[in-house]
Amino acid sequence: MFTDTGFWDTFRSLFPFLNLLYPSMNTKMQEGLVNAYKESGFLPEWASPGHRDIMVGNNSASVVADAYIKGLKGYDIETLWEALKHGANNVHPTVSASGRKGYQEYNQYGYIPNDVNITQNVARTLEYAYDDWAIYTLGKKLNKPEKEIGIYAKRAMNYKNVFDAHYKLMRGRKADGSFPAKFEGTDWSRDFTEGNSWHYSWSVFHDPQGLIDLMGGKPAFINMLDSVFIIPGAKGMKSRSMIHEMREMQVMNMGQYAHGNQPIQHMVYLYNYAGEPWKAQYWAREVMDKLYAAGPDGYCGDEDNGQTSAWYVFSALGFYPVCPGTDQYVIGSPLFNSVKLHLENGKEVLIEAPDNNKNRRYINRIELNGQSYNKNYFLHPDLQAGAKIVYHLDAQPNKERGIAADDAPYSFSKEMLKSKK
Ligand code: CA
Repeated sequence: MFTDTGFWDTFRSLFPFLNLLYPSMNTKMQEGLVNAYKESGFLPEWASPGHRDIMVGNNSASVVADAYIKGLKGYDIETLWEALKHGANNVHPTVSASGRKGYQEYNQYGYIPNDVNITQNVARTLEYAYDDWAIYTLGKKLNKPEKEIGIYAKRAMNYKNVFDAHYKLMRGRKADGSFPAKFEGTDWSRDFTEGNSWHYSWSVFHDPQGLIDLMGGKPAFINMLDSVFIIPGAKGMKSRSMIHEMREMQVMNMGQYAHGNQPIQHMVYLYNYAGEPWKAQYWAREVMDKLYAAGPDGYCGDEDNGQTSAWYVFSALGFYPVCPGTDQYVIGSPLFNSVKLHLENGKEVLIEAPDNNKNRRYINRIELNGQSYNKNYFLHPDLQAGAKIVYHLDAQPNKERGIAADDAPYSFSKEMLKSKK
């Protein structure tokens, strides 16, 4: 089942989809991961079958953590825990995509420098930081001691080490700590994987509030999000030969919003963290309407074994798992007037949007089980218990809804602040 793809982009929302609707299937997959580790010494990051030397990140951590956090049971989680720690501090001897390529540099500098002969260093750093958060979060759930998991909490903040405040973007950084003089955010350079800084600067799934703070606060953050759709696409593509992901981004004609590849696919949902959830609602519908169609050319780029479809299915329901490893689904705008989910535990989730049409995509208010609901996210346990969600949609945004600090979805730095109080 792990064919032709990499965890880093493909499974970000496919596994949460399984954990919501088909947990028994993912329980078997977790058993498969246990066996893969016992037989090969590493969890697969791209297996087809066996280990394959392609793509970056160590996102088996996310796949393992999300399943356990969502309550899956009946497999050997202790072996998977050992596997995650091993993979985070080693690299497969012949297949460098498994484990962590550059783990020594990452652990030494807090980022992978771009002058130590390791390509895609910014992409790797950002993925590893998220993966460290996933390991920390799973370790906490497993009641592991602070001396064992504290290091992963610290490393989860390593995304900050490749952020350049001058540009408000993530970028390659030298081993001596300086940033190279020359930089263009639109450049598809080898610091990234099939993308540029405008795609990867949002790869802080576990701590959008930390990213908001880095960018200078909510208005500056919103301005950067808005800019993604405006900045022209073709500029800066000279440093690499044209790859199909570049061409697809140009064809889509939404600036730097490259939905044809996976790194940026969660970005529209980030408006929910900064007090302007109506822009997430606008863009989620825009992407569904413009970039998907029911025909042979219905995808705007690689489907990549589930991610681009899972994005659509989740978004059509009106929510999306921005950060696997949390129990939250961040709210967008539902596509249908009525949807019913039949969960494996026998419960049902009924999602209704009676006022829905193409011109009424904005949320005026939401009712969850008959009660007014102001958060910008739903909780997995609330859905698993069986739920009735009613979206009341309007042609104009309700700029009073979802704007309080507590309405924002999960951010790690907020959790850390709370635990210090
Ligand atoms: Ca891809």
